[in-house]
Amino acid sequence: MPGRDAPVPAATRWLFGDQLGPAFLDDHDGPVLLVESRRVFARRVFHRQKAHLVLSAMRHRAAELGDRCRYARVDRYRDALAEVGGQLQVIQPTSRAAVAFVRDLAAERDVERLPARGYVTTREDFTAWTGSRGRRRLLMEDFYREARRHHGVLMDGDQPVGGRWNLDADNREPPSKGQPTLGVPDPWWPTEDDVDAAVREDLDRWERDGDVTFIGVDGPRRFAATRAEALTALEDFVTHRLPHFGPHEDAVMTADPWMAHSLLSAPMNLGLLDPLEVVEAAEQAYRRGDVPLQSAEGFVRQVMGWRDYVWHLYWHLGEGYRHANRLGARRHLPAWWRDLDGDATDAACLAHTLNEVRDHGWVHHIPRLMILGNYAAQRGWRPDELTHWYHRAFVDGYDWVMVPNVVGMSQHADAGVMATKPYVAGGAYINRMTDHCGRCRFDPTKRVGEDACPFTAGYWWYLDRNRGRLEGNQRMTRALGGLDRLRDLDALVAQEDRRGSTPP
Ligand SMILES: Cc1cc2nc3c(=O)[nH]c(=O)nc-3n(C[C@H](O)[C@H](O)[C@H](O)COP(=O)(O)OP(=O)(O)OC[C@H]3O[C@@H](n4cnc5c(N)ncnc54)[C@H](O)[C@@H]3O)c2cc1C
Ligand code: SF4
Repeated sequence: MPGRDAPVPAATRWLFGDQLGPAFLDDHDGPVLLVESRRVFARRVFHRQKAHLVLSAMRHRAAELGDRCRYARVDRYRDALAEVGGQLQVIQPTSRAAVAFVRDLAAERDVERLPARGYVTTREDFTAWTGSRGRRRLLMEDFYREARRHHGVLMDGDQPVGGRWNLDADNREPPSKGQPTLGVPDPWWPTEDDVDAAVREDLDRWERDGDVTFIGVDGPRRFAATRAEALTALEDFVTHRLPHFGPHEDAVMTADPWMAHSLLSAPMNLGLLDPLEVVEAAEQAYRRGDVPLQSAEGFVRQVMGWRDYVWHLYWHLGEGYRHANRLGARRHLPAWWRDLDGDATDAACLAHTLNEVRDHGWVHHIPRLMILGNYAAQRGWRPDELTHWYHRAFVDGYDWVMVPNVVGMSQHADAGVMATKPYVAGGAYINRMTDHCGRCRFDPTKRVGEDACPFTAGYWWYLDRNRGRLEGNQRMTRALGGLDRLRDLDALVAQEDRRGSTPP
């Protein structure tokens, strides 16, 4: 016990590894704790580049904070917490498991719990919005419009600039014909430093010692790991690439992995960039006349629409949501997929995408949704295993963002809470929106036979298997009607039953 006149020790703010930007310190000028727990990496098989990015970002932050920061390298969180006396301050963490951990801790010692930050809208905003909905669906589009009104983003008075809320219809262009890349400037890339070198050395040693294993390959760090790098990446994106963001947002080009995407999910999810400053930078570029409205709106919709909506749904839908499996998908993820072995398959789109994840721990939204997620849904793989896999394999993967995106958006395992219809499609879609099919040994127009496209066959196989569960959905009526007209359905089902999860 301190004596009566002894100074009360300043509260220590314990920052998680995704709370690294200035917004997570606000006016706190006391000590800071960052905990590097080896057990986190020993427990799960992460992508090598994800482990590198997170450790690099944490160690860079500790170096910036200097003597104020206690950087604990321990086995378990509790080992570090036992060394810190006085009050702990904790900003609401981003996973349910971490929130439960902090709650338990608060029963044992003095913990001040502070509200979440790092999103444009607050939990209270979302709760008020859901309360105003009555029995209407919680549509992202309506939430996004409300958020734009509330924050005055891309608004002229009470109307959206340009008179339309949604410019998606202008943003669905396929890849340009005869052009291997979009032809936009490359993203800004960070330069690695001594901190990165030390992280690499540690990861190599842990792996050699058999303490941890990784998936994917090592490679140059591609994503911002400090606030300064994140601001540079944002400025570079807004200046050089945002003007091209909109039209080809949904297209995939084999020779151009990054296209006009921002690569800002990783620094935003590490807490290094505040999404509102990202949105404001995009709006200012539009107001200056540097960026067309369809690009600015398309990008703002992703950040303050989709990203915030997904964050709120994670909490709103409850603990059980992660286990939702309303289509009864029971197959386990096969080893070739888990190990990111794109070379195992002849399907050009799948091979390329899995190998990109192996090489970078990142692909853009459409390969995540319409190639990887689409294939997993068609094959009937378990949504919980798939969520776990995406979380580990992607540099920007965290529990809050993976659960709704995988369970709800990509696997329709919630029977339509998040998306009004399943995101499944056959080879015709992939042939239209990507340039993969021209160099594939399968034919996107064939559904049965030696050269039948596994996506085209898989699409009908999925509909046949889930017919009873999808029949009540009006948006599936046409697709299910098509199924009735297939004369070779029995042969197709037998073919796909045989293929199952073996690589096509
Ligand atoms: C199955 C699946 C898994 C996904 N996993 C993740 C993930 O682990 N982490 C993650 O941040 N995003 C995830 N997304 C959303 C999206 O694919 C990525 O945010 C985006 O591809 C990241 O690249 P970018 O920063 O260049 O994005 P851009 O195309 O430049 O988009 C701008 C920003 O919008 C936000 N955004 C757009 N869509 C979403 C969304 N559906 N959910 C959340 N944020 C969104 C991101 O912050 C992104 O940085 C996933 C989507 C799907 C379908
Ligand atoms: S033909 Fe089918 S498997 Fe091949 S690239 Fe096209 S969609 Fe993918």
